[in-house]
Amino acid sequence: MSEPKKMLNADEALELLLGHVRPITEVERIHTTHALGRVLAQPLLSSVTVPPLDNSAMDGYAVACADLTPGGETRLKVAQRIPAGSVGHALERGTAARIFTGAPVPSGADAVVMQEDCAVEGDEVIIRAVAKPGANIRRAGEDIAAGSEVLSAGVKMRPQEMGLIASIGLADVPVYRKLRVALFFTGDEIVMPGEQLEEGEIYNSNRYTLLGLLEGMGCRVADFGIVPDSLEATVEVLKQAWHEADLIITSGGVSEGEEDYVKAAVERTGKLDMWKVAMKPGKPIAYGTVHDTPFIGLPGNPVSAFATFCLFVRPFILRCQGVEKVTPRSYLLPAAFDRSKVGNRREFVRARLEPQADGTPGVAIYPNQGSGVLTSAVWGEGLAEIREGSTVARGERIKFTPFSELLG
Ligand code: AMP
Ligand code: MG
Repeated sequence: MSEPKKMLNADEALELLLGHVRPITEVERIHTTHALGRVLAQPLLSSVTVPPLDNSAMDGYAVACADLTPGGETRLKVAQRIPAGSVGHALERGTAARIFTGAPVPSGADAVVMQEDCAVEGDEVIIRAVAKPGANIRRAGEDIAAGSEVLSAGVKMRPQEMGLIASIGLADVPVYRKLRVALFFTGDEIVMPGEQLEEGEIYNSNRYTLLGLLEGMGCRVADFGIVPDSLEATVEVLKQAWHEADLIITSGGVSEGEEDYVKAAVERTGKLDMWKVAMKPGKPIAYGTVHDTPFIGLPGNPVSAFATFCLFVRPFILRCQGVEKVTPRSYLLPAAFDRSKVGNRREFVRARLEPQADGTPGVAIYPNQGSGVLTSAVWGEGLAEIREGSTVARGERIKFTPFSELLG
């Protein structure tokens, strides 16, 4: 049995957790249409130039700038017509080519004059503007040069990455396989939504929060349901879960109460490496292994489970998925509140940005920061940090991390 360790601060806890990551190594090829949220396993090199040719950014007339009369009008014969998808021929001096957006610019032309600056008379165009060489031309390779790396390994793909991959013609991509996460919920008082609530019971909100968080991260989740508060039942489900999953996550039962069995059950089936983190909400978070499978025990309080997932589990999972950059981007912004009480645990308060009298953003916090008050997380747009041992005076700059940096 491992001894409970001293209270860690949030940074130490994260460092410890990340030190245990064993990234997924199995690679599969999937169709680019299914790449959303998946992590690239290899860098992608482009075999093509994008765009492939110099092409027009406008509907208008391709010309040689040297043919245009400075400060006046120019009359040119329209000698060819180049719609997108077709290729013209070399522009003869003294002529213009009718051209459309996306069509290749013919050799000999060095600018496109937009049609709004032109008038047509018979087979001639009257150009009322001067153009500089290069005007309204999108250069071959200005987006991607053939042979260049367009995405590096470890990129989690968003819609724009999917489009970029398609733009270099790749119909499938190598990705790491999905992380399999086993999830269960402890507590004799927990019942599922849809059931009748008896006295003393509460609904299993953590299942929904954690499922949303895990699915948002592209994990394959196995839900082992609600487990009664008993050592035997907890050991039993751990035994089922460990060989089916890359990671086991639990909710509740990690405090030191008489009815908390997760710690003992993990020690029975594996090893417990971490115990308490000096933070609010949170505090009881456990890390360990069941046989060889990593285990993270989250606190049962709904806001604590949510916040500890965002701050610890998310970066851990990202690293397991092969993502290198796991630190969320935070901003120092002026507090729109006062906090005179000095705490000895770091607080991650549910906050949002609200315009102050002068219109600049201030960090406002939800009045009830109770770890069971899930409304605070719905009201909030992110977490603001109040450091251990410090107070906050209105106007003082504090760290604000938007939820967009903490989810997905
Ligand atoms: P515990 O960590 O088991 O001591 O639980 C702390 C608090 O969180 C208690 O008030 C529990 O009723 C509540 N809780 C535990 N699990 C859940 C859950 N799955 N959904 C909602 N609340 C929970
Ligand atoms: Mg409990």
